[in-house]
Amino acid sequence: TDQRVYNFSAGPAVLPVSVLEQVRDEMLCLPGAGCSLLEMSHRDKRFLEILADAQAGIRELLGVSDDYEVLFLQGGARLQFSMIAANLLRGQDKAAEYMLTGSWSKKAIEEARKEGNVNVTWDGKANQYSQLPTAADYQIPADAPYLYYCSNETIQGVQFQSEPTCPGSVPLICDSSSDFLSRPLDIAKYGMLYACAQKNAGPAGVTVVIMRKDLLAKGSDDLPGYLLYRNHAENDSEWNTPPTFAIYVLGLVTQWLKKQGGLQAIEKQNHEKSQLLYDVIDAFPDFYQGHAKVDCRSKMNVTFKLPSDELQAAFLAEAASQQLQSLKGHRSVGGIRASLYNAMPVAGAAKLADLMRAFAEKNA
Ligand code: PMP
Repeated sequence: TDQRVYNFSAGPAVLPVSVLEQVRDEMLCLPGAGCSLLEMSHRDKRFLEILADAQAGIRELLGVSDDYEVLFLQGGARLQFSMIAANLLRGQDKAAEYMLTGSWSKKAIEEARKEGNVNVTWDGKANQYSQLPTAADYQIPADAPYLYYCSNETIQGVQFQSEPTCPGSVPLICDSSSDFLSRPLDIAKYGMLYACAQKNAGPAGVTVVIMRKDLLAKGSDDLPGYLLYRNHAENDSEWNTPPTFAIYVLGLVTQWLKKQGGLQAIEKQNHEKSQLLYDVIDAFPDFYQGHAKVDCRSKMNVTFKLPSDELQAAFLAEAASQQLQSLKGHRSVGGIRASLYNAMPVAGAAKLADLMRAFAEKNA
């Protein structure tokens, strides 16, 4: 572990060391199982317990009621872009409502358009996706098939501070890939909320889908079997072989989160970490240009630019020499992006804030 650096990767991303240690300790033989989890049938009683524990962990942390299924799927968050529209939009005359707030909701819209009509409820293009809508900026028809939004745009670093306003008759659907389990939510407000695991919740390979049970009935049997949510719900995420290892690690992460004090405690820590960086951005406004408008700032992905490409390169080199890794912004937007998921310690954010302050003082 002494070779480990502070890893600000946007995903796959930092995991709690104690979880990695347990995975290491149990790698050759899961206690009492006689073999590694990697070698075990997905129908083995022991794995079924692991799957049930992982589901229970999510239910407990987020307070998910029995009105919802918790599914573990493959294909990443991006397959959900297609599955949502295939199950809930295909064959409808009404348009689904989509908030266009950054790169990931844009890609979701592109996939949904293959299945049916999409109405872009609101588009953040005029401000380069640095801002999010307020309730006064849009209206959702009461008979829309659903309203889709991305709670945290990982590339731009903008995050909804609360759910969009949505008529009770319209299911609210959320891509929570990059802020899942980072704060408490009222799941009862959602028709469906989903997230790939590889940011806050575990390794790549599993996507968590929390779906209200009445929506499961909507998909047509003509769909390819894997794409029908109902198949996964009726078979408790074992319609086919699920990603057993990823589910196991995800379950360990939920246990770790409970030990940290649950989502309220982790939200407080996430606020503290991101504020350390935003405070430096605000202290040197001519040097660091934060991308997100202040009231839309993400607590997960802090995005900003330096005055020139040369200074940016020098900053990244200085960061690397201080064991601060993977800070380069997404290739589509450039700049710097510091991802501060749950497992990033406060000390990591503090060390980066110190570097930012010293770098600005020296180069401004
Ligand atoms: N949505 C968001 C908000 C994301 O950040 C990502 C991944 N960066 C995706 C969707 C796509 O996830 P995947 O690569 O698992 O398909």
